[in-house]
Amino acid sequence: MNGGRLKVDALSVRYGGVTAVEDLSLTVEPGTCLALLGANGAGKTSTLRGIGGLEPATGGVWLDDVRLDNVPASRRARAGLGHVLEGRHVFKSLSVAENLRVAAARAAGKPEVDPLDLLPELRPMERRLAGGLSGGQQQMLAIARAVAGGPRVIMLDEPTNGLSPKLVGRTIEILADLRDAGFAVLLVEQRVEVAQKLEADVVVLRHGHVAHRVSGTDPELPGLLQAAYLS
Ligand code: ATP
Repeated sequence: MNGGRLKVDALSVRYGGVTAVEDLSLTVEPGTCLALLGANGAGKTSTLRGIGGLEPATGGVWLDDVRLDNVPASRRARAGLGHVLEGRHVFKSLSVAENLRVAAARAAGKPEVDPLDLLPELRPMERRLAGGLSGGQQQMLAIARAVAGGPRVIMLDEPTNGLSPKLVGRTIEILADLRDAGFAVLLVEQRVEVAQKLEADVVVLRHGHVAHRVSGTDPELPGLLQAAYLS
């Protein structure tokens, strides 16, 4: 079984005097997808970084029964919290295969899903340097690296940012495959269509607070989002 349950209780993230996220609670079950939507500055990235241990945060973070909020980011990752950061973090001077090997070496056990089965389009590129790939290919590699790390929960920060419409569609397929493989998927997005097509649970953030919790299939979602963006 790949997935685990992510539970976040009363998470707050502050940068000095700025409160980016306040008192946010959410649960992502294995085999489901939850999308955080909201305007720029609503606190979406800070939520993922707080959960991942990359920013100082208060509140509880659990992966199944294991409490993670009191351990550093590296331990959270080894415990199964995968994180695809905003902006395609790959080792540009390493090949595709080397990028995946480095990620796998950090895994606690052998991942149950081979990242190249999930993203077969990377197979012909295994020997190419990551820095020579297109932006879209680097984004695919960033997802593959997270999978190689043997996660049980996968958090992704705007994985469709800057992609062509065709690659947006392909990314949605990959996210659905991750979900259907049993991972808990926590997604930050600007594109509402991604949450809609994945039939994700949606949390709309506004100024660091939960404005709405709805289903991605709810026909009211676009209207709620528009109101949240404008307020
Ligand atoms: P975007 O889509 O633009 O990334 P977001 O919803 O992800 O927006 P965050 O990036 O989490 O929002 O930002 C939330 C708030 O925290 C904003 O007011 C932002 O200016 C502030 N903030 C984010 N990172 C920092 C930082 N490193 N230092 C100080 N303030 C920050």
